[in-house]
Amino acid sequence: MGGKNMKAMTCKQLGGACDKEFHAHTFDEMAELSKEHGREMFRKGDENHIKAMNDMKELLKNPDAMNEWFEGKKKEFDAFPDL
Ligand SMILES: [Zn+2]
Repeated sequence: MGGKNMKAMTCKQLGGACDKEFHAHTFDEMAELSKEHGREMFRKGDENHIKAMNDMKELLKNPDAMNEWFEGKKKEFDAFPDL
């Protein structure tokens, strides 16, 4: 209750490139996990993740678009059923 339950989102759902699932209580936590995973895949030289990260970098250049994306994902997160 009170947003304490875990939710799951995949790397792809968070703008990434694979079906790895992240489990988190809050969207901020979720975004952090996905970023960490993205960095790891980037270090490994995974092409799909590098491409996805480049797309995200383009988005970051436009704060309005970034906010919109972030809010949209947050709503998606809130709409998912708790695990
Ligand atoms: Zn991934």
